[in-house]
Amino acid sequence: MTPAWCPWCKNELTENDRVMVGVVEVASGPGRPVYACSDCKVAYRIMAFADHPPNTNGKPRYIERRFAL
Ligand SMILES: [Zn+2]
Repeated sequence: MTPAWCPWCKNELTENDRVMVGVVEVASGPGRPVYACSDCKVAYRIMAFADHPPNTNGKPRYIERRFAL
């Protein structure tokens, strides 16, 4: 796999500690997935891409506090 970094903490992500949280559109070809580490996903309440609404634009979303567990 291609190396990926968590944009929030800038740490390199391992295959076992990453969550897809969005898709960045690129000019050529399909979008590039955005991953966050599980720590940042919890700390920043980042929504997993799988939980995005159907009309998502692919940008990372944050779970509002009132909806967070
Ligand atoms: Zn992180």
